[in-house]
Amino acid sequence: MVKINPASRHYRNSAMNDFAHQQRTNVEHLSDCGHNATGADLPACLFVQTVEQSPVAISITDARANILYVNPAFTQVTGYSVEEAVGCNESMLSDKRTPAAVYEGLWSTLQRREVWRGHLINRHKAGRPYLADLIIAPVMDEQGQTTHYVGLHRDTTELHALEQTVRNQKVLIESVIDALPMAAVLLDEENRVVLDNNAYKSLVSDLNVKEPVRLFLERLEADLGDEWSRLCGAHKPFRDKEVCIERGASRPARWYSCAGTWFVNGDDSVDAFFHSRRQTYLLLVLSDISRLKRQQEEIRLSAIKSLTAEEEKTGSLREALSAAIHQMQGPMNMLGAVKGMLERRGDPANTGLLDLLGQVLAQGEESVATLQACLPQGDSQAFVPVNLNRILRDTLEVETERLLAAGIEVDWQPSAVLPAVAGVESRLRSLFKQLLDNAIESMSRAGSRQRELRVGTAADGEVVRVWVEDSGPGIAPELRLKVFEPFFTAKGGGRRTGMGLALAQDVVNQHGGMIRVAPDCHQGCRMEVHFHACGDLAADRMAAHA
Ligand code: FAD
Repeated sequence: MVKINPASRHYRNSAMNDFAHQQRTNVEHLSDCGHNATGADLPACLFVQTVEQSPVAISITDARANILYVNPAFTQVTGYSVEEAVGCNESMLSDKRTPAAVYEGLWSTLQRREVWRGHLINRHKAGRPYLADLIIAPVMDEQGQTTHYVGLHRDTTELHALEQTVRNQKVLIESVIDALPMAAVLLDEENRVVLDNNAYKSLVSDLNVKEPVRLFLERLEADLGDEWSRLCGAHKPFRDKEVCIERGASRPARWYSCAGTWFVNGDDSVDAFFHSRRQTYLLLVLSDISRLKRQQEEIRLSAIKSLTAEEEKTGSLREALSAAIHQMQGPMNMLGAVKGMLERRGDPANTGLLDLLGQVLAQGEESVATLQACLPQGDSQAFVPVNLNRILRDTLEVETERLLAAGIEVDWQPSAVLPAVAGVESRLRSLFKQLLDNAIESMSRAGSRQRELRVGTAADGEVVRVWVEDSGPGIAPELRLKVFEPFFTAKGGGRRTGMGLALAQDVVNQHGGMIRVAPDCHQGCRMEVHFHACGDLAADRMAAHA
């Protein structure tokens, strides 16, 4: 081993020559072993020049880490000149802040004759600490003993600060997103989730789906139709798009208000290293508005309930007055017929009777006219596209208490997509209420133990079908047409006047539809109502939420 004289240029060269000689020996050794030693024919000085001119800080030490050689890049990184470094221990570079365990790991790796890679906190000669990214490799002699070490290191302080800033920002963004009370999810161009928050993760169990965002995208596409394609195509931000997510029969549906923002980012994949590519991301924010919706729904339902109660009162009054007019008209028709007959006979003896009959008839007609004037006027609402699923569901809600009290099990089967029907909501509500009331009454009257009410809708092309089916005693085949006649009642002197189905028929006629008792129904009664679809797309879409 050569004697160390840090100030001697000669030493540096002889140490380098030593090192080069060692390398050559290693290369020759490799050749002997049959390896392809490509550097074997190169002059030794080339190795020296390569190390000298390397832009990476290189140091060569003896087996105790005493520096034998440093290249100019080492001086640039550490601030120590050749003269200052050579002869000193590598530990002079230490800032004394690297944990002892790191050094222990370093040395135990080197003792196993393995290469150590890692980071150490060094101190520049000027006094400032810097982060050194280090590779230390043992150099072995022919007997496999470590004679030297070669160290390569670079200052990665800035890179580390940059990486740390990015990491901090990521943590900050993730914490902020996680703290949001609403679900947030970031999607790439293939709708893959890139980032999500805790509120989004909890949707997985709430909605019982693996990737909730798929459900939301499907719903937005179905509900917004062309508008959704336009928003996605132009990457236009959107907000307040309400989406209803069904959670099965036993759990109430959830409502979300969706907002989306698109932004463009540089692609960080290797493919985009030379040819920069842009990736478009969609940030979807989903706010649960179920509570608000429920409150709105309660307000709407209570308004419908009071409206229905009002309509029912008016309906009963109309029914009673119509019955009275009908009752009066029967005897008056008879009196009219008698008067006509007496007049035709022309017997002067009947003159007094004819006068009397005339007075009675005139008074009767006046009374009928008075009663007719008292008939409550029907509503004059305009026909609008109506979602029958919603009307039926509202009516069922209004009837909930009666259904529960009567112990009736309801099977509600709305069609997932139902075309709209042109109609007057209040009249259609009273029509369905009449059918439900009839079903409840007949099941309660018959005292059936099993009380089932099946209500459903379906679309057959242009025809929208509605059915209300009960498990009551049913209607005898010979009465299936008669039940729609005014004042026909099979209920034997009950509160009703027998105008219910006649009025229901009236409403169906006003809507250009058809109502009948299903002829093929052998158990219970199945009322079928058919309407023509008006083909309004907006109402079509509403149907899915009913
Ligand atoms: P210790 O690690 O206990 O060191 C005490 C002395 O013993 C030191 O002289 C150390 O070099 C030597 N020593 C410890 N264990 C062994 C062993 N198993 N075999 C031989 N000698 C041993 N450290 C830095 O902080 N920064 C650097 O840039 C750096 N570069 C290095 C480059 C090379 C090529 C080598 C071989 C080592 C390098 N080291 C570096 C490690 C350095 O030698 C010290 O181990 C380290 O700085 C800790 O020194 P210390 O005095 O605090 O304690």
